[in-house]
Amino acid sequence: MEPSTPLQPLIIPRPEHTLSRAQISPAALKVLYRLHEAGYRACLVGGGVRDLLLGREPKDFDIATDARPEQVHKLFRNARLIGRRFRLAHVQFGAEIIEVATFRAHGTDSEDGDGAVVEQAEDGRILSDNVYGSIEEDAWRRDFTLNALYYDIANFAVLDYVGGLTDLRAGLIRLIGDPLQRYREDPVRMLRAVRFAAKLGFRLDPATEAPLPRFGHLLEKIPPARLFEEVLKLFLGGCALQSFELLRHYRLFGWLFPATERCLSHQQQHYPKTLLARTLASTDERLAAGLSTHPAFLFAALLWEPLRERWHRLEDEGMDGSEALQAAADAVIQAQLRHTALPRRYSLPMREIWEMQPRLAAITGKRPLRLLSHPRFRAGYDFLLLRAEADEQAAELARWWTGFLALDDTGRAIATQPPAKAPAAGKSKSRRRRKARASATDATPPAES
Ligand code: ATP
Ligand code: MG
Repeated sequence: MEPSTPLQPLIIPRPEHTLSRAQISPAALKVLYRLHEAGYRACLVGGGVRDLLLGREPKDFDIATDARPEQVHKLFRNARLIGRRFRLAHVQFGAEIIEVATFRAHGTDSEDGDGAVVEQAEDGRILSDNVYGSIEEDAWRRDFTLNALYYDIANFAVLDYVGGLTDLRAGLIRLIGDPLQRYREDPVRMLRAVRFAAKLGFRLDPATEAPLPRFGHLLEKIPPARLFEEVLKLFLGGCALQSFELLRHYRLFGWLFPATERCLSHQQQHYPKTLLARTLASTDERLAAGLSTHPAFLFAALLWEPLRERWHRLEDEGMDGSEALQAAADAVIQAQLRHTALPRRYSLPMREIWEMQPRLAAITGKRPLRLLSHPRFRAGYDFLLLRAEADEQAAELARWWTGFLALDDTGRAIATQPPAKAPAAGKSKSRRRRKARASATDATPPAES
């Protein structure tokens, strides 16, 4: 796959490309210049070059250099060395972190002169990859051709060793080298392929695309913490809906969220897909409008169907409503943790959003007023609104709450009067329970004002 002798890159001199220093963050420029002045090679690489050439705003700026991590560390007081699989320097400027990586060789063989080792598992996965190399070698070990373009601070030229510029122009995501080998080395590249296709609106090159539907199982080997990070990038990067569609299309989604995938493929109605699709679309809309989104909300939607199924099954087996919800939440979270991590700072508010759902169905007496002061009320209500788009009973409840929120204090007091008639006698406990959890449909919504 790699050339045995280094190839001359395609060099695009400054006047012939559109990437200008004015578009690069001052922090990244500072790092580039300091490395250059200290006599090292310093290039912007990866998403920074790709996005700027496409006229997009990069998410972050990555720098590649021939300085070793320790040498980078010495040059910057605000640098720290991180990573085991890849040793990198992070140079911090306020909230902005500039990632500085030393040029690496792709080698699968054992050692370079420094005793650094590429550690590989039996299945071909690269476990640690600290063999330093030349810039050409560094280009060839990157994932996609459009991610392997360099902007050289020495002469402001763009360097292309792998045909990235042609693919960039053609709108193609193409793995560098043999796709099967590259996916085996690092299966997360499959998720990255999907993410870049969704984000850039690009097509996957046929050879890059072909293995995806049958290679999803390779993701089982990836630590849940890394998959969690990738899931956040997929769903909080502004193209969540498109990423989700592509993940399902390539049969990758089920390796990230198996319980959700089972619900999506078993259920006849479109409900679970609609709820999830609406949540992802609204996440994208919020991000586009510059609003914040909380991963807890996203995960609440991603795992809602598995939760609901289990919760109702436990209730039907005779468990009390709130106990059943707790037990179902425990089980669903436990099962999910085998695939993606889910830190408690996200899983706790996610549970609160879930627990809010049956409480939102109790709309008589003082309970609605009390619920309004719950710190998670807004998220719970927003979640109900999304459920409402796919579920008629939830829609009725959502209308009630929307009307209720629009009322003044007196109006709210009137709206929460107990109903004139008690529920019809003779209903079984479980029927009453089922009805309560579906929604409080016996309450009259307040008149629209
Ligand atoms: P963005 O930052 O917009 O998500 P990016 O392309 O910059 O996209 P990063 O995760 O920041 O992605 O990685 C920076 C660069 O490092 C990539 O462009 C690519 O060249 C290289 N890289 C990242 N992850 C891998 C990987 N798993 N295998 C090979 N190269 C990778
Ligand atoms: Mg990046």
